Amino acid sequence: MSDEDTEMPPRPPASRTQKFTTAELINAEAPERAPARSHGTRTVITSLAGVARPRDLMEEIGAVAGAWRAKIVTLFPDAFPGTLGLSLLGKALDSGLWALDTIDLRPFGIGKHRNVDDTPAGGGAGMVLRADVVAAALNEAAVGTPADRAKWPVIYVSPRGAPFTQAMARRFAEADGMTILCGRFEGVDERVLEHYAIEEVSIGDFVLTGGEIAAQVIIDATVRLRPGVLGNAESAVEESHSNGLLEHPQYTRPAEWEGRAIPEVLMSGNHKKIAEWRREQSEALTKARRPDLWERFSGK
Ligand code: SAH
Repeated sequence: MSDEDTEMPPRPPASRTQKFTTAELINAEAPERAPARSHGTRTVITSLAGVARPRDLMEEIGAVAGAWRAKIVTLFPDAFPGTLGLSLLGKALDSGLWALDTIDLRPFGIGKHRNVDDTPAGGGAGMVLRADVVAAALNEAAVGTPADRAKWPVIYVSPRGAPFTQAMARRFAEADGMTILCGRFEGVDERVLEHYAIEEVSIGDFVLTGGEIAAQVIIDATVRLRPGVLGNAESAVEESHSNGLLEHPQYTRPAEWEGRAIPEVLMSGNHKKIAEWRREQSEALTKARRPDLWERFSGK
């Protein structure tokens, strides 16, 4: 048996993700925004302020119980929270409205080099993520999550997947949380997708280098639909794709810019007229730009 095939238990990752010894955790100054806390392969990214002690790590999981939680299986945990740590989503992460765990794939790798991939069966370019390695990481991600996929969707972001839509974001937002497997290279061994009945979701008809950006796209669109995340609850109701139409044009000050005035009706104060105008614009834009959406909308 080669070193490659030697089964070894996962060991803590050697990634650049910030990690703390127990002593460091106990002695930590209260940071502005608490750093990611790591527990072996698992990194809990929340920003609850306060001194980080190991007990807090446990309590934190309880503290945000009920909060929507994303679990990301990835070779690049450092990619998170990325843009999800900014603005409204970042604030919501800070206040525990949602939480993010990354599960580093690397420590589940095989042999001395913790290999996670191998050449494609049947030949061809690139490498494929191994079923056994991905399965071990998915098992770790599954700890403490409901088995019911309606309550906890488990998806693989993939260009072969069903196109991601606002309706899908709503479905994910209604769950308790979700697990997202990020691929790299040529993707993952098909057997693991079948075995775990994983749903494949695509963010568009193009090919990315890895699933991390796609996962962030899906989490962003989903978390902003959770109660309390957007400042103005209305803004998720009226926007593009929420009612099957694209949004009307928006304007703000100055009233005139480069010789262009804001459409008069918007300055009229007549709310009924404004609503009508916006509706017309919305329909005209959808018809012109997205005949596919218009057909579905008008056929309803
Ligand atoms: N060989 C694969 C593409 C692999 S791209 C194929 O032809 O289908 C590498 C990884 O990037 C994928 O495993 C997937 O996780 C991610 N990825 C690439 N494009 C994507 C897309 N449009 N939507 C979601 N994830 C994508």
